[in-house]
Amino acid sequence: MQKFTKITSSIGPNSESKEVLLKMIKKGVDVCRLNFSHDTGEAQGAKIDLIREISKEVGRPIAVLVDLQGPKHRIGNFETEDHYPIKFGQKFVLDNDSTPGNSQRVQLPDTDVLNSLKVGERILLNDGKIELKVEKVSENHIETIVIRGDEIWSRRGFNLPDTEVETSVLTQKDREDLEYALTKNPDWVAISFVQKPEDVEEVRDFISARTSHPVKVLAKIERPNAIEKITDIISVSDGVMIARGDMAVEIPFEQVPAISRRIIRECRKMNKPVIMATQMLGSMVHSEFPLRAEISDVASAAYLRVDSTMTSEETTIGNNPEKVVETMAKILTFADQDAIDNPYDWSRVENIPENDWSRSVASMAYLNKASAIVVFARDAVATTQISCRRPDIPIIAVCNEDVIANQLCLSRGVFPICDSKLFGQRDAFNAARSFNISRGKLVIVDEEKISLRVLD
Ligand code: PGA
Ligand code: MN
Repeated sequence: MQKFTKITSSIGPNSESKEVLLKMIKKGVDVCRLNFSHDTGEAQGAKIDLIREISKEVGRPIAVLVDLQGPKHRIGNFETEDHYPIKFGQKFVLDNDSTPGNSQRVQLPDTDVLNSLKVGERILLNDGKIELKVEKVSENHIETIVIRGDEIWSRRGFNLPDTEVETSVLTQKDREDLEYALTKNPDWVAISFVQKPEDVEEVRDFISARTSHPVKVLAKIERPNAIEKITDIISVSDGVMIARGDMAVEIPFEQVPAISRRIIRECRKMNKPVIMATQMLGSMVHSEFPLRAEISDVASAAYLRVDSTMTSEETTIGNNPEKVVETMAKILTFADQDAIDNPYDWSRVENIPENDWSRSVASMAYLNKASAIVVFARDAVATTQISCRRPDIPIIAVCNEDVIANQLCLSRGVFPICDSKLFGQRDAFNAARSFNISRGKLVIVDEEKISLRVLD
């Protein structure tokens, strides 16, 4: 049995030792996500070095995904570290006064954000546990009424689902973090709180002004205005993350599964890898066993044929990150095999033209019951496109550059190998054998040539 769905794992305090990370990678991590909301600079740099070292040791490409915090809004400080009750029906003021806050008011340090708010708009504090509605606005002073109350304390985050905030998608902190991260040649950079296609272009320009390393950019979809422009955003991005954490605060949560399905469909159509993210095995922060609903969520993502599922807190601050990866790999492997046993019906491929070359590759593989597709990957584009046809057999990508092999770690069913010898000889048979595929038919893709060969 083979796992086709990739695992993206967030690496943090409980998973950044060599001992733990090595075990996680051996159990099935394909992409390591470094969340710059927490560590920055040298601390993240050390993790990148460690990932590269382990990848060499295990002889398997691993992708490094740098995840920038983005314009995550936070309120200011309160008088003490206590929790302050905010009650339904009361008034609450947000202003630009740095005096510590209390149950009646608190500072909102970013004045651009403060002055973007309009009467009637909602402010969701602390993952939506508190809901405020704007009643009166004047310069640097917003009066709100509490629609849903709870407790609040210093520096909590908040979401503005109704507000188009006119700030750059890269904060000053993001610029510094990205500047540093680029010196470590990451494979992917994820952009948080994307609102429009221009945000992705802005990050791409920032990167290309600083390095010639072919970094790929991934848009995190978590804002309602990004969902409105989803097709345009996917088209300018190299990949997408369905960031269900903030998304479920910013849009009514019951809509998240429907939107997720739409994003997966669009990404497949547009040949871009997609990650399903957040709380997939969240209970395993504390527990050794997943919830039944979590098992089903991970498997459902595999049946929807996403490229990758993701672990968050469960592998950064969880008790047993290795067990989390083992659990996720077990669920994905079974679901992927089950999907193969009930093969894909090609008549259901939506909106991919009959004469699309990548569709020809997948249907050639399907009709001939091929055991693998071997692609000589000079860049990641052709292989990603074949992967998006979801052929449900291994796609062996023979690469001659590490960065291409690493980037392809995110694509469903793609098993990249970096070997310039194989590449030079165009030796598809050896490539297949190095993956324990020694019998059956191979579909071989080399530039524009597609051929079928028999292994025996
Ligand atoms: P975050 O992104 O963990 O960086 O907030 C994921 C999400 O919002 O789901
Ligand atoms: Mn988020």
